[in-house]
Amino acid sequence: MGKSVRIIGEVVQVQQTSGPTIFTVSDETGTTWAAAFDEPGVRVYPGVNTGNIVEVLGEVNLHGGKIQIESESIDRLIGQDSVDIRKLIDDAINERAEPDDTEFLIESDTLNLLRPMMHNAAKAIRRAILDGRSILVRHHADADGICAGVAIEKAVVPLLKEANNNSDAEWHYFKRAPSKAPFYEIEDVVKDLSFALEDVERHGQKLPLLVLLDNGSTEEDMLALMKVKIYDIEVVVIDHHFPGQVVDRTVAVDEYVDVHVNPYLVGGDSQITAGALAVEVANMINPEVTEKIMHLPGIAAVGDHAASDEANKYIELAADRGYTRDEQDKIASCVDFEAFYLRFMNGRGIIDTILGLGNKEKHGKLVNALYKESLKRVQTQLRAALPNLKTQKLPNGIIFNVLDVEKYAHKFTFPAPGKTCGFVHDSIVQKYGEETPIVTLAYGPDFSVIRATDAVNEMFGFNLNEIVWKLAKKIPEAGIDGGGHECAGSLKFVEGLSKKVLESFAKEVVDLGK
Ligand code: MN
Repeated sequence: MGKSVRIIGEVVQVQQTSGPTIFTVSDETGTTWAAAFDEPGVRVYPGVNTGNIVEVLGEVNLHGGKIQIESESIDRLIGQDSVDIRKLIDDAINERAEPDDTEFLIESDTLNLLRPMMHNAAKAIRRAILDGRSILVRHHADADGICAGVAIEKAVVPLLKEANNNSDAEWHYFKRAPSKAPFYEIEDVVKDLSFALEDVERHGQKLPLLVLLDNGSTEEDMLALMKVKIYDIEVVVIDHHFPGQVVDRTVAVDEYVDVHVNPYLVGGDSQITAGALAVEVANMINPEVTEKIMHLPGIAAVGDHAASDEANKYIELAADRGYTRDEQDKIASCVDFEAFYLRFMNGRGIIDTILGLGNKEKHGKLVNALYKESLKRVQTQLRAALPNLKTQKLPNGIIFNVLDVEKYAHKFTFPAPGKTCGFVHDSIVQKYGEETPIVTLAYGPDFSVIRATDAVNEMFGFNLNEIVWKLAKKIPEAGIDGGGHECAGSLKFVEGLSKKVLESFAKEVVDLGK
């Protein structure tokens, strides 16, 4: 305190206050702030901008409890000097960004194969924290996606605070937002890009690192990702949706994705959830928080109906942490229920409570209250839907259920059509058993939601995505779009051709096994 210092580093942010101009400067060891003042509210050193290498001379002081260097001069370094410094900083950050060697929470061959990609994802996120970029997390708005988002949030926030040695860094440098659609939509990307570019313009920030969770792998994500890539934003995807054909561990979307973690890339499938993958990556980013979030993969697995060795191990792990399978199921239901009403908000405080990351007493009370209410609403929905469900046993042995969800379900309330289809499907599965091939289709005027038991995939090679592509080719005028997992997803089309699309879909199901 009070000493004169000289710092050489990169400007990572320039903020104009009503008093001085504040330059955030990072070197190979850390981040600090330099204040420069001419007149109140007037930008000093207009030639020094975010991304420049500078030499700061000044005196160390405190401002509002935060370290601040009262600068005497800030000079921009150019030419070889700046190149050398930039390399020094880059190498140092690269080294510090390297994740610790950690072990996975469970044993899994698929995870072992994914390790290099997961390591790169963890490193990219750690790098962004250290080089002064903000981190923008987008995740699917269901229990799995939210578990994934929260895991990354819990790992990143303490590191952000540390790197910026101030307590409010998390609000400036971290954003988590749910995506309503099961993919990264145009609606999401216009928002994200607008805010990011505004932050650059208005707050002198760098462009963010975009992290897509339980989203980002499929062809439907490509348009939004292409837009992001035009601005050279780095993109990390951690997903378990079917990404299309895999050649040499790459898929179509990789043209726009820098680091891609998806079990399909290494011969696995969607039965390892995005929540589990994100918790494993969070463990690599910041092992100190792992203890706290170890039960999330169980909740994600139950929420996503994942059935695999890995899913069972994660469910057991959560049980060891004091959450029985029933409780995991309850928590997943509550997250889904609350996500419906949160819409575009991340609901951090509430979600923390539901997931058992906050006050334990409130957790118990809230989960009980929400679960009761969500059950009630599901039952109301099923009372309307089930009597109007048309069920038939096809010659190939498949039990095929069809519901007009527009006419026989309550609209604009929980559960929405997708979930309603899931609950209707589950009630049929309960009747006939998991091993029975069952397909359930709930349709509205211009969409339908499809659920199938794994047996349909095992016995007939059923993959919803392939049927969607086939129908899109067969009926181009219907503007077909959609997909998801092999056995759960959606199909969208223009209203005028709904009859033809639905009949063609039904024919695909009838023809399975032929
Ligand atoms: Mn998922």
